[in-house]
Amino acid sequence: MFERVLEGIRDLFPGSAGTIPLHAPWFDTADEEAVMACVRSSFVSSVGEGILAFEQELAEYTGAGRAVAVVNGTAALHAALVLNGVGPGDLVITQAFTFIATCNAITYTGARPVFIDVDPDTFGLSPRALERWLERECRQEGGGCVHVRTGARVRACIPMHTFGHVAHIEEIITRCRDRGIAVIEDAAEALGSTRGGRHAGTFAPIGTLSFNGNKIVTCGGGGALLFEDPELADRAKHLTTQAKVPHPWAFQHDLIGFNHRMPNLNASLARSQLRKLPHNLAVKRALHDRYRELFADGPFRLVEAPPGTSPNHWLNAVLVRDRQERDTFLQACLEAGIQARPAWELATDQPMYRDDLKDDLAVSRELQDRCVNLPSSAHP
Ligand SMILES: *Cc1c(COP(=O)(O)O)cnc(C)c1O
Repeated sequence: MFERVLEGIRDLFPGSAGTIPLHAPWFDTADEEAVMACVRSSFVSSVGEGILAFEQELAEYTGAGRAVAVVNGTAALHAALVLNGVGPGDLVITQAFTFIATCNAITYTGARPVFIDVDPDTFGLSPRALERWLERECRQEGGGCVHVRTGARVRACIPMHTFGHVAHIEEIITRCRDRGIAVIEDAAEALGSTRGGRHAGTFAPIGTLSFNGNKIVTCGGGGALLFEDPELADRAKHLTTQAKVPHPWAFQHDLIGFNHRMPNLNASLARSQLRKLPHNLAVKRALHDRYRELFADGPFRLVEAPPGTSPNHWLNAVLVRDRQERDTFLQACLEAGIQARPAWELATDQPMYRDDLKDDLAVSRELQDRCVNLPSSAHP
């Protein structure tokens, strides 16, 4: 039924003999050497020059003032929320159309999420839907935003740059800043993506990244926080390294910190992978162009970059007609040895988040039914 498309996808990955993976990491001898050099040095754990060097290189690449490396993207989100004083009884706005890590990080702090719809052009949090919910359900009180019915403080908002497409982040930040709501950009999927030439994750005071195995570059597990304010970055470093007060020998800690630091072994691989990012971006752009040719005459609509943005094309996506066509296509991909995937089930459909506050989620629901991600590795 989808023969032409399935054959077209196979042709894009001539190197894949078996099943074409959705997104495989790519390592070369430089990566192997970086890992081995770290092992030989014996500094594989919490101390080592790779960590600081990676933080500097990452800040330089993204144009962030500072970067702090952590153990994964979920830990980065958690630390970002704690740095903003989010805790039990608070509300944090995010999108229901996201990977579950965004929602779980909120819950770890004792706060609860509020689910707002996404935009049909970016698949990221909709500034208009955000404004509508805030206007209808909240009021300003004592310099902050309070949800009227529950009396809970809306302390933060986490928009997510879905599949590497940059959300309407400036509008989101304006609406939140006016109300004293902190913005944290979940840029886990968007390293290398820009809007107006500015990198995803550097618009808000804090942005977070992930270097998990399925992301555009990987160090096995890893994450980072991006900051403009060096003082906030110093606080983040302290908080994520057990809050130890610097001293040649004494074990003194001035608050309850976290062991969220990135090991030097991971940082060594992360540095080597970051050098490949420009290459990966170029390969993925070319792959996206070929997907555009493949879907020029249908049968599905390829998801394109929002105007004014340059995405990293982390995961290519198409929109099919409905959930039934989606499942028929996914089954056909499975049989053809092509690893395609539906988008996430909405967080509001997961048992842990069923009873949380939410707005109308019409666009999110439609994307959940109609979105299919296609193989997008950076080494076809
Ligand atoms: C990958 C990802 C994360 C964080 O993932 P980790 O596996 O913890 O590094 C967070 N949010 C989104 C949207 C992601 O895709």
